[in-house]
Amino acid sequence: MPTTDDGLTGTILVCDGCGRSRRTSATGRIAWDLLWLQADQAGWAGSDRPLGPHYCIVCVGNG
Ligand SMILES: [Zn+2]
Repeated sequence: MPTTDDGLTGTILVCDGCGRSRRTSATGRIAWDLLWLQADQAGWAGSDRPLGPHYCIVCVGNG
């Protein structure tokens, strides 16, 4: 099972600008796709790949 930095299993998306994060308890590629889709709809921008970079709505300037 993949493990995030804080020891909890799941998938996490971290803003490369300010460190803001979004998390889902699911793991795997589908979990990432869902997480990014939700983030994208919330105004995040950046690469659609887990490697990033990703930027939250504040850093993108839409906030
Ligand atoms: Zn940010």
